[in-house]
Amino acid sequence: MGNLVFEGCDTVELAKKYGTPLYVISEDYIVDRCREIREDFLDKYEKTMAVYASKAFLIKEMARIIKREGLGMDVVSGGELYTAIQVDFPMDKIVFHGNNKSLYEIEMAIKNDVGRIVVDNITELDLIERTASKYNKISSVLFRITPGVDAHTHKYIQTGQVDSKFGIPLNEDIINIAVKKAINLDHVKLLGFHFHIGSQLYENRGYILAIRKIAYLMKQLKEQLGFITKELNTGGGYGIQYSGDESRKPIKYFTDAIMSELENECKKSGFERPLVIIEPGRWIVGEAGITLYTIGSIKEIPGVRTYVGVDGGMPDNPRPSLYEAKYEGIIANKVGEKLINTVTIAGKCCESGDILIQDLKVPKIESGDVLAVFSTGAYNYSMASNYNRLPKPAVVMVSQGEYRLMVKRETYEDIMRNEL
Ligand SMILES: *Cc1c(COP(=O)(O)O)cnc(C)c1O
Repeated sequence: MGNLVFEGCDTVELAKKYGTPLYVISEDYIVDRCREIREDFLDKYEKTMAVYASKAFLIKEMARIIKREGLGMDVVSGGELYTAIQVDFPMDKIVFHGNNKSLYEIEMAIKNDVGRIVVDNITELDLIERTASKYNKISSVLFRITPGVDAHTHKYIQTGQVDSKFGIPLNEDIINIAVKKAINLDHVKLLGFHFHIGSQLYENRGYILAIRKIAYLMKQLKEQLGFITKELNTGGGYGIQYSGDESRKPIKYFTDAIMSELENECKKSGFERPLVIIEPGRWIVGEAGITLYTIGSIKEIPGVRTYVGVDGGMPDNPRPSLYEAKYEGIIANKVGEKLINTVTIAGKCCESGDILIQDLKVPKIESGDVLAVFSTGAYNYSMASNYNRLPKPAVVMVSQGEYRLMVKRETYEDIMRNEL
């Protein structure tokens, strides 16, 4: 019996010290994942690059850790790029994404010499050419291709199917026109292609199918236009453990499959393998985070269910209401006690859909207990809102028994800061 200890830190003490809800992020876990990527992918294969998909979780300290661990970073907005700039992140290791980049964002990317811009559509290509010309630069780009692979995941996080808002469809005519256009531009250097088939994938099959399709495209483009693909960015999407059903696979399960498929295809067609980029987000940081809440109301509806109210919910973790994401949790101050009840954890927002966990097994609980929800490192803090004017929680980083406050809890004044 006792308190939940996370990377050597007592979570109940953290909850007391900083208040709840509270995001607690393990630096050690992130560092371990980065090391695994270096050992089993970057050091194992030549001509490779790993970029962290920063949308999963980004604060300046995270960007510093990623920089120190030798990975690159993918950004999808001016705000994410701004964060990278603030910590002197090496700009040649930045990959800039987005299906509707503004002129302002494109200017920002080009002025700061980001390593690669991933072009989502032809409109954007013109914008990049004009902007690069204005600043007298040459912009390296990849085309985002939707390979027409249906990934086995929730439809809101599928991105590789033909009917997608992202990317250029894998249609020979469309792509030939786009490539022809790009290779004739003076301020754009087309390096190759990018695909991202979806998120929270547990199988490598989708990547293999996508590579086959792209390899065929590479071959066609070489024969028809003499275009040599120098880089292939295979996106992210590696699944992690949220509940008991599925567990995180080692990075090599995905990357070995990607590399061997691509090497085979290249050998068959007689061309040199392009540089390969991977973009894991959730896989690096998802399981690194937990969220602590304080339990308030407990309402038993006899014969139906017991609702247990916590002091956060969809503003700090929108994923259950957004895509029916499943989470596991534990009563942090009653670890080891016998689980005798099944309850539903409800958030405090005025939405019936604001349910964090259905049917969680718990010991005897009472108001004031601390609930820890696991695997909240990715797409929680980064997706947090002020719905119902709840202040965003603080972020504490833990490592080897030490903790440090990285982001202060918002105040009501913070919420109103920009009101005139
Ligand atoms: C979201 C995203 C990723 C990362 O997805 P994860 O599921 O967090 O690994 C990588 N690349 C692109 C283009 C993305 O949009």
